Amino acid sequence: MSRLVLKFGGTSVADMARIRSVAGHVKREIDAGHQVAVIVSAMAGATNQLVAWCREAAALHDAREYDAVVSSGEQVTAGLLAIVLEGMGVNARSWQGWQLPVLTSNAHGTARILDINGAELLKRFKERQEVAVVAGFQGIHKETGRITTLGRGGSDTSAVALAAAIAAERCDIYTDVDGVYTADPRVVPRARRLDRIAYEEMLELASLGAKVLQVRSVELGMVHNVRIFVRSSFVEAQDIDPHATPPGTLICGEEEIMEQQVVTGIAFSKDEAQISIRRVQDKPGVAAAIFGPLAEANINVDMIVQNVSADGATTDVTFTVPAADYQRATDVLVKAKPQVGYERVDGANDVAKISVIGIGMRSHAGVAAKAFKALAQKGINIRAITTSEIKFSLLIDANYTELAVRTLHSLYELDDK
Ligand code: ADP
Ligand code: ASP
Ligand code: MG
Repeated sequence: MSRLVLKFGGTSVADMARIRSVAGHVKREIDAGHQVAVIVSAMAGATNQLVAWCREAAALHDAREYDAVVSSGEQVTAGLLAIVLEGMGVNARSWQGWQLPVLTSNAHGTARILDINGAELLKRFKERQEVAVVAGFQGIHKETGRITTLGRGGSDTSAVALAAAIAAERCDIYTDVDGVYTADPRVVPRARRLDRIAYEEMLELASLGAKVLQVRSVELGMVHNVRIFVRSSFVEAQDIDPHATPPGTLICGEEEIMEQQVVTGIAFSKDEAQISIRRVQDKPGVAAAIFGPLAEANINVDMIVQNVSADGATTDVTFTVPAADYQRATDVLVKAKPQVGYERVDGANDVAKISVIGIGMRSHAGVAAKAFKALAQKGINIRAITTSEIKFSLLIDANYTELAVRTLHSLYELDDK
């Protein structure tokens, strides 16, 4: 007998039929003799609707009230799943964040989990074989007691944190794809499902745009050594062979992966904007004058490129910021013009960042150079480049996103045969 956490995302609990199907999966694990805690998301689209209502109520609203509103979606699905399970003869009880409790930081809208008390769940597993159905995405601030939420996609993090708290053997993330692919299967039809992927690679994939798992959930999995298994909820429970390993992707330690490819996956993000400062004084202190005020304004700068100065006196500096901060960043730079000294600021919102990820890059040279050539052959211009030990990212025109991702996917021999 083992202890499992099962997490079901929005499309997996989108309506009553889907919730019944999910209950079938929970019952299957109970019948196999496991202790089960479930984390549910809100029904597909519910959180978007709640966010939209907050914005409609007031463009600038109190983050504490935002959390009061957007946390409600998960309350509904947790209760409904518990009702359906009871109807199937499975003991079940729903739990909201404040009831366990799930204690978090005070950063409303993007709170971090600090501690989860799983004692009552463990007691009930033992005494009543009761399934715990826990509302994902939410917690309470440890001092004020107010409801907090964990950022979009946060139910993944609820699940991995709960798995760590109750020392579960595995955390199954049930979603609308049957695993982690070499690229988003909706964009690259020839993407291949990975049997295993290392935490570090998954962390890069997730932070560079693959939304299949929230970044924080992978971080927690890595720190607490939680085995995360991504699998499909769109298979009916009765069609699963209890003796076979189901299709899916295990996120695990690097040492558990036998055949390490040079490139494991490709991610992309259109959530970035490019800013270029033209004819900046080429002298010491200029970078500080540009990036200091941006940091003070809490704007994350990602890729940075400084052109070689043609005349020895001025240069161009290009960098990216989150698209949501584009206007604010431009305003900050205009204000800092006297300190920086430049001719003008140009910007573009229609850019995309394509990232190629693989632990094998540590020991292989020239991996990125191949990409530059392949994209040039397709007439795709690269606006900026960044590299690190296990990944490199390229900034291109957003119009070419799909073409670039597919080109690189073939180039690194990731296409399904
Ligand atoms: P859930 O509602 O279950 O949390 P999400 O929509 O958050 O599901 O995440 C699943 C989606 O992630 C898939 O539908 C897929 O389009 C997308 N995705 C992006 N990159 C990848 C990838 N590399 N592998 C699998 N899915 C990916
Ligand atoms: N319902 C939340 C969201 O849509 C949390 C989640 O689904 O993980 O972001
Ligand atoms: Mg998700």
